[in-house]
Amino acid sequence: MAAFSPLDNLWSLFSKDIGMDLGTANTLVYVKGRGIVINEPSVVAINLKTNQILAVGKDAKKMVGRTPGHIVASRPLRYGVVSDFEVTEKMLKYFFDKVHSEVSPYFPHRPRLVIGVPLGGTEVERRAVVQAAKNAGARAVYLVEEPMAAAIGAKLPIAEPNGVFIIDIGGGTAEIAVISLGGIVISKSIRYAGDKLNDDIINFVREEFKLAIGERTAEEVKIAIGSVKDSGQNHDMVIKGRNLITGLPQEMIIKEKHVREAIKDSIENLIEAVQETIERTPPELVADLMNRGLIMAGGGSLLGGLAEYLSEKTCVPVKVAEDPMTAVVRGTSMILEDLDTLSEVLVDTDLQQVPL
Ligand code: ADP
Ligand code: MG
Repeated sequence: MAAFSPLDNLWSLFSKDIGMDLGTANTLVYVKGRGIVINEPSVVAINLKTNQILAVGKDAKKMVGRTPGHIVASRPLRYGVVSDFEVTEKMLKYFFDKVHSEVSPYFPHRPRLVIGVPLGGTEVERRAVVQAAKNAGARAVYLVEEPMAAAIGAKLPIAEPNGVFIIDIGGGTAEIAVISLGGIVISKSIRYAGDKLNDDIINFVREEFKLAIGERTAEEVKIAIGSVKDSGQNHDMVIKGRNLITGLPQEMIIKEKHVREAIKDSIENLIEAVQETIERTPPELVADLMNRGLIMAGGGSLLGGLAEYLSEKTCVPVKVAEDPMTAVVRGTSMILEDLDTLSEVLVDTDLQQVPL
């Protein structure tokens, strides 16, 4: 599948191939020979008056919820799809240029790119990602579905005739996949993931405490004291917001049990989705699931007690992959290293070869 024309060899002299996890919450970029060089929020801040990018990544995330009317800080991939093509393209270009200035500042940088994309995206969405990468300067673009990349990154034996079960819980989506013989046998993608839990916390605090808090605060609470099972340590945290009755600023303490209550329904939905996937899985593969267990990846898998709770509810062993937030990008890097052998895992489309 990989093209090796003389021109390709020339480009490859000074272009370092890139693996990319274009996540709904975070974008990670791996550069061959360098490792992970970018790990930043998938957020772009744009000045609507001038249509210029003000910030991308960490700096843009700081602006979320704090912008005046003419500035928007948005997440173009929020729902796992390219909801805003132009912004996605700008973001890709920004990260590309950042890599370029480091790896080959004096030459054109025309890398080959392996990009992790969400499960079950439409052809139009995939085309949008390929086009964005192409416009940003890639000379070949290969797409891989994120759970597949996560499984490869987690070093699971995806090519064997055995079921590999993976759930990648990100910001906008959670993706569950059963992989065997290098292909996805069964899969499911749902929108009950990290962002939904943040919203749950915002709504709970508003209803129970009449306090308005922002998305960033809710995420901090979730990461610091969020759990699905009692940790036995009575964690709590001070939060600040606006009292909805007096309209004045207020500080209060939120407890672990509040967060658990807030996210309960979403967690149940997540568990149901896993159960449904198991129900649709052929019996031989279910037997493999019993042996090998379900592997979790993505930032959402770090939620306190989730692995244990999921295991109790589904009667299968559940493990969190090593370094779960980098599993997808490490998977894309492993595909890059071995494009010929691993080409079977790539999304089958005629889009990926970009004319040189
Ligand atoms: P995506 O692939 O969609 O970009 P990531 O895999 O980067 O998403 O995960 C981001 C999500 O993980 C966010 O919703 C974030 O709040 C959540 N997250 C990160 N760390 C933790 C943690 N320790 N506990 C719970 N959720 C976490
Ligand atoms: Mg992801």
